Amino acid sequence: MDKKVMLITGGSRGIGAAIAELAAADGYVVCFSYKSNRTAADSVVRKIEQAGGQALALQADVAVETDILRMFHEVDQTFGPLTALVNNAGILEQQMRVDQMDAARMQRIFATNVIGSFLCAREAVRRMSTLHGGKGGAIVNLSSIAAKAGGPAEYVDYAASKGAIDTLTVGLAKEVATEGIRVNGVRPGVVYTDIHASGGEPGRVDRVKAHVPMQRGGEPVEIAQAVMWLLSDKASYTTGTLIDVTGGR
Ligand code: NAP
Repeated sequence: MDKKVMLITGGSRGIGAAIAELAAADGYVVCFSYKSNRTAADSVVRKIEQAGGQALALQADVAVETDILRMFHEVDQTFGPLTALVNNAGILEQQMRVDQMDAARMQRIFATNVIGSFLCAREAVRRMSTLHGGKGGAIVNLSSIAAKAGGPAEYVDYAASKGAIDTLTVGLAKEVATEGIRVNGVRPGVVYTDIHASGGEPGRVDRVKAHVPMQRGGEPVEIAQAVMWLLSDKASYTTGTLIDVTGGR
């Protein structure tokens, strides 16, 4: 049987790390990128290896095209054809209103969340598409329920970047639907990870959970399970779809 090779961007912490662990347990050879936290990346690799899986951590900033090209090249060289891509790396910045934001911040958010995901999707399609001699595959993009809610007074820029991810998901899915590639997305609600500290409010999940119908925040593994289903053959007729994993929000 062919080896299943998955690349996850931003797999060293949070939701990406949970996806890496589930994927390895499911028999994937797992490659994941991180930006700067080598210690966290090493600990995910160790955990996967201790459980009998295979993982490779690659430093690569998805906001830098040459880093993306190097990352895909290393995956090709080390493990061969990619079968799954998870565009997970995403950032937000200090909570503020749009009338306080400068252009540099908006460019950072869009470079990482949107252009990074587009370029990784492009590289994956070049490898997976039957049009390019590939064997097909699946892509899952991490959006956010903020794409619908808008992120007012916190991060409308981040929310808008996730709106772009929703459109990438739908458009690319249709573009490659006859080329053996399925493209889907997951829109998490509030999940217990470090990302909220980047917004200046590490305890944000506990503040907003009263507004979640299930009255709690999500755990990274609960998002990872939806990602794994979308990548699996059980979702063989599912493409261009976004699953909200939000506790009902
Ligand atoms: P997180 O805990 O902040 O982890 C972010 C991960 O992405 C880390 O592994 C980080 O690497 C990596 N990363 C950040 N910038 C990167 C870059 N430029 N290039 C490569 N890797 C980069 O984030 P998370 O909460 O798990 O979020 C994962 C995804 O889910 C994001 O797309 C986020 O927008 C989305 N999401 C999260 C929530 C939530 O409540 N947590 C809700 C909705 C959507 P380092 O360790 O090196 O920094």
